[in-house]
Amino acid sequence: MTNIDIRNLADRIRAGDRRALARAITLVESGRADHRADALALQEALGTDRQALRIGLSGTPGVGKSTFIESFGLMLTGMGKRVAVLAVDPSSARSGGSILGDKTRMDHLARDPNAFIRPSPSQTELGGVARRTREAVALCEAAGFDVVLIETVGVGQSETVVAHMSDLFVLLLAPAGGDELQGVKRGIMEIADLIFVNKADGALKEQAIRTCADYAGALRLLRKRPQDPDGFPKALTISAIEAAGLGEAWDEMQALVDWRKEHAIWDQTRQAQASHWFAEDVRHGLLRWLQDDPDTNARMIEAAAQVRDGSLSPAAAAVQVLAPLEKR
Ligand code: GDP
Repeated sequence: MTNIDIRNLADRIRAGDRRALARAITLVESGRADHRADALALQEALGTDRQALRIGLSGTPGVGKSTFIESFGLMLTGMGKRVAVLAVDPSSARSGGSILGDKTRMDHLARDPNAFIRPSPSQTELGGVARRTREAVALCEAAGFDVVLIETVGVGQSETVVAHMSDLFVLLLAPAGGDELQGVKRGIMEIADLIFVNKADGALKEQAIRTCADYAGALRLLRKRPQDPDGFPKALTISAIEAAGLGEAWDEMQALVDWRKEHAIWDQTRQAQASHWFAEDVRHGLLRWLQDDPDTNARMIEAAAQVRDGSLSPAAAAVQVLAPLEKR
């Protein structure tokens, strides 16, 4: 552990101090072992008695995510709610560059005292970004935020990862010709609770309405999910720029949340997610532990070479690495 005053930091976070929150998120994002110990002690001190509504939000670049977060966030703060915005940026994991997390975005919301905006942590792998973001969500809850928006783009596994830390998952789409409907992966349709067709304004309005009807039709074809009341998943049109349809969007979210809470689905989902992240942390820890063990690491490097040159199958190579450990 470092000499950070954990108790004091926890008190300031619980009092809603955004600088303390930012510092705590930096702590959970750190790869240093002493920081990790502090981060865990901090989370322990903060407790888990506060819950926010965690909303996952995805959409391709240009669809209007930051415009939506800005106007939706301002609507919520206008209603007296406190709103945190976090990001899971898979591009930062791959290249160090970023699709999200540009600091000039959402500048009105960023200046709102009831909002907190944090760009994606830069890590070398999506799993690392995700694990830390999930802890940042918990910190925002402890700081008393009512809504935590977790933004991502539809690249690779990032949507699934964000869905695993969200109570609701929203997919933002742009108006499109009918044949583009196939462009949305089936998997993402299956995890979306709400689809918002954005840019339903001006010349794009009619097209947005048609696109929305197409998606509503596609959603009806999906198998009914146990976590949904009648009529969900649902598609709506909105205009982030004109702040139109956002009240309805919020009402639909509330209706879904209320129903899930009444039917114990809210708690079940959170429990399943906690188990998921526990397993992820164990898996990750185990792999790291194996790589840090010189003998095992040497066997892994050797086996990997044999897999590459075809002299060993992947399955046999895994056994070769793991078998000596079984005797421990
Ligand atoms: P992001 O990449 O998903 O975050 O998208 P942005 O929020 O940066 O928006 C991309 C572009 O779409 C910008 O030029 C926005 O002004 C525009 N845009 C966003 N929302 C709307 C909307 O509701 N209507 C219209 N007409 N344009 C929008």
